Amino acid sequence: MSTPCCFSFFNTAKATPATPASAPVPACTHSDKPVPAEPHLPAAHDHYNPCFQSTGASHAPMDAELPAYTAHALFSSDARDAIKAAINDAVPGLTKLSMYISDHPELGFHEVRAHEHLTDYLEEAGFEVERGYKGLSTAFRASWKRGKGRVFGFNSEYDALPTIGHGCGHNLIAVSGVAAAIGTRAGMQKAGIQGEVVLIGTPAEEGGVGKGVLLERDGYKGVEACMMIHPVAGPGVKPGMAAVTPTLAVNTVNVEFFGRAAHAGGVPWDGINALDAVNIAYSSISALRQQLHTSDRVHGIILKGGEAPNIIPDHTAMKYYVRARSAAGVEELTKRVCACFEGAAKATGCTVKHKTERMLMDLRNNLIIAEEYASAMGKEFHIPTLVAIDDWNYAGGSTDFGNVTYAMPAVHPHYAIDSPNGGNHTVAFRDACRTKEAHDYTWKFAAGMACVAARFMQDDKFAADVKDWYDDNTKVKE
Ligand SMILES: [Zn+2]
Ligand SMILES: [Zn+2]
Repeated sequence: MSTPCCFSFFNTAKATPATPASAPVPACTHSDKPVPAEPHLPAAHDHYNPCFQSTGASHAPMDAELPAYTAHALFSSDARDAIKAAINDAVPGLTKLSMYISDHPELGFHEVRAHEHLTDYLEEAGFEVERGYKGLSTAFRASWKRGKGRVFGFNSEYDALPTIGHGCGHNLIAVSGVAAAIGTRAGMQKAGIQGEVVLIGTPAEEGGVGKGVLLERDGYKGVEACMMIHPVAGPGVKPGMAAVTPTLAVNTVNVEFFGRAAHAGGVPWDGINALDAVNIAYSSISALRQQLHTSDRVHGIILKGGEAPNIIPDHTAMKYYVRARSAAGVEELTKRVCACFEGAAKATGCTVKHKTERMLMDLRNNLIIAEEYASAMGKEFHIPTLVAIDDWNYAGGSTDFGNVTYAMPAVHPHYAIDSPNGGNHTVAFRDACRTKEAHDYTWKFAAGMACVAARFMQDDKFAADVKDWYDDNTKVKE
């Protein structure tokens, strides 16, 4: 299966933390200690040293008001403590869930067991759950509502990669969404916030554009802003840091050339060579590459090159990914790439068919949400978060959450875990996503999302700023 998704931004540039190097160390001090090899987490009933503890601050009354939104303001302490306490309480169960998903990897649109376990968990936790959401048997929608108010969404992914299982850490993404939803609910309850928290379970990120399908089917209807987080690793990356950076939009193009078979030794002049068309197309695209912008990417493989050397190939196939900074840029670049296919067909006398799959759009991270998230992570957890939404030095991979960021104000931070022997899409990263340390980071970054969600529901000024920024900078004008 093809996998155009995921990230390499930490490999392409050195991240500069938004917080100075002299910033306080993370509150979770055990994270900074060398972590012994620990391929498996302790069972849920074992002692689990939580990632964060209550600050011990006295709890404010239920109806405490959040402060008016100002950039980098601290989040309300009582809502914040409730968020952390609720996630803390859920850690044993969520860890068990994450490890189950990691132990039972399922490919996109076939995440049957993950869907079942996640929805069972959410229903038991008191959420209203819709299984098999929008006609996708492994999608779901879980929600919790209090009064009338704004709706904030999270996404959980839980699909695996062929042969290496959860080499992209989607077991952690799955439970990060659940943790954020549980935390947000607790913050709403504690601070008397009205609104709705929605968790959408989105299948098939690795090549299926599941979120694109759900968007087309109105699966995000009513959701006013959305977040998800993704673990990453790479050389020189300090575990525990986070970043909000762009990803590239990508089109997948499937190509077939049709020629005419002939005896290659006897009557080659009777043949029309579909392999020659592949060869010319490949070379034409290689020549085109010199004229592309440095952030554009065109890369492909030959799926079929013929049956035997003594038969002039009459049918060949290729698959290409075309990436650029924006959906519009990908559309333009795809036309130039497809011209190479058509030119190759013309030159060889073949006919050609090319079909473009559903696009993964670039991430259009909302700056106001991103800064609020960085503020929450920095001031609450002493974790530096780089906000560089337009710095293309960090772009490399792609994600279907990009489609969500086009549709509404949304942010997709990455957070680094310790995986010295390999980054995303490796066995080493899969194993790193099973450690207690990786889970501890996940709870913190999920709590940060919950802080943003609760503020979005509570704080009119913040919500208005988020929406205005989306309207002015992100929304595609008709
Ligand atoms: Zn991936
Ligand atoms: Zn991924």
